[in-house]
Amino acid sequence: MPSRPTWPAELAPELRQQLLSWWQEHGRHTIPWKLHPDGSPPADGEELDPYAIWCAEVMLQQTQLQVVLPYWQRWMGRFPCLEALAAAEEHDVLLLWQGLGYYARARRLQQGARLLLDAAGAAAADPWPRTLEGWLALSGIGRSTAGSILSSAFDRPYPILDGNVKRVLARLIASPRPPARELAGLWQLSETLLDPQRPRAFNQALMDLGATVCTPRSPRCGACPWQGHCAAYAAGDPARFPVKDAPRDLPFQVIGVGVVRNAAGEVLIDQRLNEGLLGGLWEFPGGKQEPGEPIEATIARELREELAIEAEVGEELIVVDHAYSHKKLRFVVHLCTWLAGEPQPLASQQVRWVRPEQLGEFPFPAANARIIAALLERLHPGMD
Ligand code: SF4
Repeated sequence: MPSRPTWPAELAPELRQQLLSWWQEHGRHTIPWKLHPDGSPPADGEELDPYAIWCAEVMLQQTQLQVVLPYWQRWMGRFPCLEALAAAEEHDVLLLWQGLGYYARARRLQQGARLLLDAAGAAAADPWPRTLEGWLALSGIGRSTAGSILSSAFDRPYPILDGNVKRVLARLIASPRPPARELAGLWQLSETLLDPQRPRAFNQALMDLGATVCTPRSPRCGACPWQGHCAAYAAGDPARFPVKDAPRDLPFQVIGVGVVRNAAGEVLIDQRLNEGLLGGLWEFPGGKQEPGEPIEATIARELREELAIEAEVGEELIVVDHAYSHKKLRFVVHLCTWLAGEPQPLASQQVRWVRPEQLGEFPFPAANARIIAALLERLHPGMD
């Protein structure tokens, strides 16, 4: 096994200074939750709204900044404070989250809001934790998110290690192991480098460097303040770092889906149980194709097993491929006509007949958006 590279800690002051000078000129200084409400930047040591930062950090856990920005704006408009989020209907929270994916994050934010308010209690104490342990007590908050919130909101000296930072630091030391197997060393490096006087600015600068210069495929080393100290650059092929484990093939599964219509023109949807990645979301009924089973038989069987209805499986509406982090799914969707049986939620929370135009009022997983669009186009050709 390759040995862990040693890194001279006495370089830290110089690297801090180089990074912060670069950031002053080239950093991303317009991220709204990193500013005061009037748009002015915080002075060192000044506090920012932890609620706005917490919501943004959770959105950013699996989603790019540019995608998060409009969601965060809408979220803050609808749920501008802890109390508003804690009091909201879960349906409304999920609906606003629709399209961001990983819906458990939305539910955890709401649970966290209720927990923080309960803990503050009748004394109406400040609900915001100022320690790592306080943030880690919230579901879905790991050490890096907690460190980012504490440094961003309160300018406290906690290191971070998100995806961008892992890449930058792994390159800086030309780590011979994938970051997932070098975590202790990378955390130590992030902590050693952190500027104790300006932790908020330093962490933000590190994230900005990873997002804009030390990018995954083509790092712009010529524009990098750390070029002179970077081991990956010195090795001549920085994009080779972070090194990766051999890729593994994701499991692939075909899902037969039925868009079942009744004589009134309504379609049948069901709400998933409150567990797993997509818990609580609505979807069109369906399930996994068995080996050797025609897809029409899959759909008819799933409708019988999960909803206790008989339906005629008609023509194909659309095929949608969707990759999750751990599996790839192909949804083969057919239009169906309801024949008999009162729909029962045998494998879901509830089932409902709704008019196609109402589908937008329900939170669906991302893969279903194309099914809905195809259905509406089929029913009303040429309309958006
Ligand atoms: S020199 Fe290149 S590889 Fe090294 S940290 Fe800078 S951008 Fe990344």
